[in-house]
Amino acid sequence: MNNNSLDKKIKKAAALIKNSLKKHENPVVACSFGKDSMVVLHMVRQFESDIPVMFNNTLVEYPDTYRFKNLMSKEWNLNIIETKPSKTFWWIVENYGFPLFTRKGHKDASKNCCRYLKEYPIAKILRKYKFDLYFTGLSRHESRLREFSAKRYGNYFYSKTQKHWKCHPIQDWTEEDVWNYHNLYHIPHNGVYDKKSPDGFILRTGCWCCTIPIKYGKTKFLRMNYPSLWRILMTKGLGNFIVEKKIGMSIPEPQLEHMIQNRPCFFDKY
Ligand code: SF4
Repeated sequence: MNNNSLDKKIKKAAALIKNSLKKHENPVVACSFGKDSMVVLHMVRQFESDIPVMFNNTLVEYPDTYRFKNLMSKEWNLNIIETKPSKTFWWIVENYGFPLFTRKGHKDASKNCCRYLKEYPIAKILRKYKFDLYFTGLSRHESRLREFSAKRYGNYFYSKTQKHWKCHPIQDWTEEDVWNYHNLYHIPHNGVYDKKSPDGFILRTGCWCCTIPIKYGKTKFLRMNYPSLWRILMTKGLGNFIVEKKIGMSIPEPQLEHMIQNRPCFFDKY
């Protein structure tokens, strides 16, 4: 990506932000303190430095995310509003199963998990504060669903179901654009991105305990970088769940503990 192209994208995003701010009285910027939302937060603050910042606190963010949020809150003097999950992650696991691995007799653990930890709490805050414009760092490259949504709605639109306007200023940016912008404006980044990453695993912020990416090396990533969190996940049911899936039976606790300590790690590959 050459500088010229990034320059054009920055100008386009800035114009969109400026114009949409003119049309609304009560905007908010969503920030997960990941690389993308940091770019949008930085850009929006060029026009409205005291804009409220909504942090969707799932209570299961990486420790680096909480540290970084606290740091940036002080350094940029942010006016942060935090959501609280409607149910805890562990309640979801107990009632529906792990995200992606729905328990028998239940419907869709992942969908319910995202609803209780993200969608409902965000909707509640938007209603409570009557925000009429919601900026996000959403990117079309992140998933097929986001690509579809980008094609269908564009980067500034009214959500009939959620009853507010949404603006995704960097929807068309690549990951490289995002990092180039960080370098250009010396924007600090979340420590999650500095962790060691197993082959094929994409470093992302968000819920540390999400089991959706375990096929791509998530358990290995956790074991390498956050061993105590990894142990929690293994001993709170995921360990035995993987054992059952791989060898067709569950095992008693002492044997599980032996497998947790054994190397190479049985749980790294799923
Ligand atoms: S990303 Fe994963 S852990 Fe987080 S809310 Fe969604 S399904 Fe749950």
